[in-house]
Amino acid sequence: TRIHAGKIWLNGELVPQEEAKVSVLAHALHYGTSVFEGIRAYATDEGPAIFRLEEHVERLFHSAKILRLEIPYTPEQIASAIVETVRTNGWKSCYIRPLAWFGATSLGVNPLPNNPADVMIATWEWGAYLGEEAVRKGAKLVTSSWRRFPGDVMPGKAKAGGNYVNSALAKMDALAAGADEALLLDKEGYVAEGSGENLFFVKNGVIHAIEHSVNLPGITRDSVIEIAEDLGFTVKEAYRVTREILFTADEVFMTGTAAEVTPVSMIDHRPIGTGSAGEITMQLRKVYLEAVTGQRSEYRKWLTFVK
Ligand code: PMP
Repeated sequence: TRIHAGKIWLNGELVPQEEAKVSVLAHALHYGTSVFEGIRAYATDEGPAIFRLEEHVERLFHSAKILRLEIPYTPEQIASAIVETVRTNGWKSCYIRPLAWFGATSLGVNPLPNNPADVMIATWEWGAYLGEEAVRKGAKLVTSSWRRFPGDVMPGKAKAGGNYVNSALAKMDALAAGADEALLLDKEGYVAEGSGENLFFVKNGVIHAIEHSVNLPGITRDSVIEIAEDLGFTVKEAYRVTREILFTADEVFMTGTAAEVTPVSMIDHRPIGTGSAGEITMQLRKVYLEAVTGQRSEYRKWLTFVK
């Protein structure tokens, strides 16, 4: 593997990565019946700080509830296990991946005999998700031929493993087409989200956060809305956004734990605004990065310090 995850927390114990093994007969491996989170810890003056740990753990439990997956720990136990995993590995900053899944008791399609869940927490060092160049110059998006699934097909509000077959198909095709990320539309052609990011656009100084019933409720999105309002911007939630609204926006950007705040400079071969990283986007990105690294006292409420 090229992932160096040090010690992994697996069903209550910290074990070396090579020893963190699961059965090839796990239900989740066959049917995608897992739920997970993506969290980041950032280096601060007082050691690593985990960004919005409580909200991520809450979303993990919501995802599990949607799948009727029983996590045999309390949210508080999972949160402490995450802190313990980061501390044990001694990372200054890292990405954190908690995962809960239906295990290997039964391979019938009904997952419930595999309750309670197996649970693991892995951590590793991970830089700019879409690459440094996308951050500086803005990412290129292409509309995917894969649509974001409606909520009566798959539970998009759950961060469930199987949902990411849709994301992975869209992402592979976007990269093959020379873009950095996929723009996913819903079945009617309205803008949903990226393969792993929520979308915003800026028009006449107003920030529009794209809202859609099929989107994952992003924690970065929520943070950026609060930051933007604190900076004095008007922020509106935008529903039923078509591609031409994005084509003619002044700025477009993406938010996500992995992608942080990434400007979008091109969509379907059309330059957005000036065709480079937008000014408001970069202002929001700057404050977001100050917030996550403990440089903004008003956002320290979002940090869990690993001491
Ligand atoms: N949408 C999808 C499909 C995602 O996978 C992610 C990443 N978790 C997001 C949006 C952004 O969510 P967050 O800001 O909580 O990371």
